[in-house]
Amino acid sequence: MRASIIPKSAADLRVRPHLDESARQSFTWAGVRAELRGLPGGGINIAVEALDRHAEGPHAERIALRHIDRHGARRDFTYAALSRASNRFANALRSLGVRKGERVFLLCARIPELYIAALGALKTGAVVSPLFSAFGPEPLRTRMTLGNAKVLVTTATLYQRKIAPIRASLSGLEHILVVPDAASGSIPAATTDFSRVLAAGSEQFQVEPTLESDMALLHFTSGTTGTPKGAIHVHGAVVTHFATGRYALDLHAGDIYWCTADPGWVTGTSYGIIAPLLHGVTSIVDEADFDAERWYRILQEEDVSVWYTAPTAIRMLMKAGPELARRFSFPQLRFVASVGEPLNPEAVWWGKDVLGLPIHDNWWQTETGGIMIANTPAMAIKPGSMGRPLPGVDAAIVRRGAGGGIEHIETADTEGELALRAGWPSMFRGYLDQDERYRKCFAGDWYLTGDLAKRDADGYYWFVGRSDDVIKSAGHLIGPFEVESALMEHAAVAEAGVIGKPDPVSGEVVKAFVSLRAGFEANESLRLELLGHARKRLGAAVAPKEIAFLPGLPRTRSGKIMRRLLKARELGLPEGDTSMLED
Ligand code: AMP
Repeated sequence: MRASIIPKSAADLRVRPHLDESARQSFTWAGVRAELRGLPGGGINIAVEALDRHAEGPHAERIALRHIDRHGARRDFTYAALSRASNRFANALRSLGVRKGERVFLLCARIPELYIAALGALKTGAVVSPLFSAFGPEPLRTRMTLGNAKVLVTTATLYQRKIAPIRASLSGLEHILVVPDAASGSIPAATTDFSRVLAAGSEQFQVEPTLESDMALLHFTSGTTGTPKGAIHVHGAVVTHFATGRYALDLHAGDIYWCTADPGWVTGTSYGIIAPLLHGVTSIVDEADFDAERWYRILQEEDVSVWYTAPTAIRMLMKAGPELARRFSFPQLRFVASVGEPLNPEAVWWGKDVLGLPIHDNWWQTETGGIMIANTPAMAIKPGSMGRPLPGVDAAIVRRGAGGGIEHIETADTEGELALRAGWPSMFRGYLDQDERYRKCFAGDWYLTGDLAKRDADGYYWFVGRSDDVIKSAGHLIGPFEVESALMEHAAVAEAGVIGKPDPVSGEVVKAFVSLRAGFEANESLRLELLGHARKRLGAAVAPKEIAFLPGLPRTRSGKIMRRLLKARELGLPEGDTSMLED
């Protein structure tokens, strides 16, 4: 039996960690803000803090970004070079007539152009909305339509496969800037060559005077019902990115840092683009998909010192076996953190055995914009716990009462909803055009996260589950409604209900239950057809992996599909309260 706590001695900590109790005591958000540069006139701009602050200082020639392509070739960008390239892109956007607040969507693999475009757009005051490249045409169309996309930056291959089929329906999309790629050859008709506009732009750029409260990023996330929600984040969020890069990820000057998350999701933006640059470290960007041997090789050959990854990836490394891991060594690795899904205690111990370091779980979500709860370097780890609230973060376990109020649960180890007191700088400021949905997330000062958790007597938080029906598969949040809607578009489907089915590697996989319209027969060929239909529309990241036929789906008297019941039946669990079930 492994110990339930991993204490750390001074010898375990190779550098002095940023966060100790004295740092907690003296922390203020205003103090962190004062360490950043800001803009003349009192505003702030994420890209200026991330890039120009270093490009105009002693770190100008330090490598900001090391890109490793699918074949293993490296391309380095210094802070100065990345700042110049982003200026070129910012000028290109201005010459296209893009104004402050207008939306620039990014749909790319992890290629340097994605980083240049994101940072350049932020300098213009345009709003950046990253899209996941494994989405199919339907989720892309929904998000670009809701977000009112004016510009899209993509690659030739992604354009041909995913955008060309929906382009006609994106009436507000004025400019498509396409990065040429080897697979697709030339630039498609009626699009603009990204490299040409970049080359034409000047390297000098007058940054838009953005304010802390100006919208900077639009990250789409999903709920149980309805369309995806565009979480609005502001330039002032950079204060949280800076503080958490220091206190949760322990970034120090000279670190080589690798965040494995894709910038199509919030982690890949907050901690794959912004936070590492804020700290002047060298960030590794690997274009390729997961491959156990490649990942160990990158950790070893790039001398990665701080690594931020996710439970599914860790479980895939565990699955690849210890022999493979033993062929590599990681003497430079100093700190490993994980986010996105529950991190099983075995994974924490696996880190200690294989990497020589335990894995530090931390918790946050799209709406919080940055890490809120974390196992930090200086504190003992409790394997299975998400850690303690970071400085400046006020967390609580609450119960929703009648009339929209909440009751705080003070007793240790008692389950309730995780809530955060509003006021940290990266808190989302709205769901785009959905004020009512935003308001419902708050009870007075408290933001209700939708996660169920417990707090123990030492102040550590333990994840229990979601209070809604959203699915977390391989760390990606999937709204069941989006999947059900795509299935319902097929002529054979009368109704569809979608659940997350527990999976030892991905956490959950998407499973759909469908009932058929009269005249259709439930058989293997229709099942395969439906799987193919969903995959084509939704993309591999969102489509169901399993589909089962049922004669009818359980519904409440008011007509809502009871996903909870579908899940209980699938897992052989008690059905709970079924009094709402329709006869
Ligand atoms: P997203 O908004 O896509 O980043 O997903 C956020 C959700 O992922 C949270 O609300 C949690 O349900 C889950 N999550 C994130 N981090 C953790 C963690 N460390 N442990 C358990 N669940 C997590």
